[in-house]
Amino acid sequence: MTVSSSGSRVCLVTGGAGFIGSHLVERLLADGHIVRVVDNHSTGRRENLGHLRDNPNLSETVADIACDDLAAVFAGVEWVFHLAALADIVPSIQDPVGYYEANVHGTLRVLEAARASGVSRFVYTASSSCYGLPDLMPTPETAEIKPQYPYALTKYLGEQLALHWNKVYRLPVVSLRLFNVYGPRSRTSGTYGAVFGVFLRQKLAGQPFTVVGDGTQTRDFTFVTDVVSAFVAAAGSDLSGEILNVGSGGTYSINQLVELLGGQITYIPKRPGEPDCTFADTANIRNLLGWSPKVNLQEGVSRILEDIEYWRQAPLWTPDSIAEATKDWFKFLS
Ligand code: UDP
Repeated sequence: MTVSSSGSRVCLVTGGAGFIGSHLVERLLADGHIVRVVDNHSTGRRENLGHLRDNPNLSETVADIACDDLAAVFAGVEWVFHLAALADIVPSIQDPVGYYEANVHGTLRVLEAARASGVSRFVYTASSSCYGLPDLMPTPETAEIKPQYPYALTKYLGEQLALHWNKVYRLPVVSLRLFNVYGPRSRTSGTYGAVFGVFLRQKLAGQPFTVVGDGTQTRDFTFVTDVVSAFVAAAGSDLSGEILNVGSGGTYSINQLVELLGGQITYIPKRPGEPDCTFADTANIRNLLGWSPKVNLQEGVSRILEDIEYWRQAPLWTPDSIAEATKDWFKFLS
């Protein structure tokens, strides 16, 4: 295994061209690590790594974790960060097989490649959507698992695989359950999804924000650099077989978000199967990794607004196009 005296590690980031992945790559390079990215560019964007491309410690492989041979890219890797996945609710309802392929079978193949190359750390990116409509607030890792749609289920199955590989093959796995991550470069693919991409594009166009319900529902909006710090802390730890929530330490209403972004509002119907609140219990990650979030919503929003032009190419959603795009949500989740 290649461990240099400087503490620099050979890292592999699957999904490294994506929103969270690209921030993680940036941080790992800044910390002096050697970083390999595997991404199929299905939702990740080449430009997300554009500012890092001159760094000789970064290499990129365009490959699909679900079907391409991964052995070469895994050779000599010490830390694996597995972020490659399909996200979003509606497309997962429409294409459960595609989601299973990417998020479950893809994870299996990444685990097997990691096992074969003898990595020293495997960090799995899990989703707080596994808690569904949680009964406990803040929600601890021991809460009941109630996935509401195929995205949530497939991310949970991937987590189960990773933990099983830990148990049976002693693969040193840590699973991070992320709560509503936002920040610069937050994803803007064609599908309707994460509220930041929707609202920032609406703001740029001078259109009203499409607030779901009455906007009093709250989310544990977690700034991406805090999430990245959790990944780095997990990789540097000696934890094994651990599941840890990653949240902001608070929960914020959509009305608060709208106030911080500034603009008009139009209301759209509440969607079935949506929690009124997400709020991570972060006691475990604070205790076990000494990690704590640093960026509150106010600061995070002001940082994201500095970069608002990024969302100019994102789709502009209106109440009508959202109603059309979420038809299957209402059909299957009610
Ligand atoms: N939301 C909203 N308008 C939109 C999209 C989302 O008010 O056009 C709200 C949604 O009701 C939820 C929050 O924003 O309370 C976060 O939604 P997102 O889809 O980003 O995450 P999730 O609901 O999966 O936590």
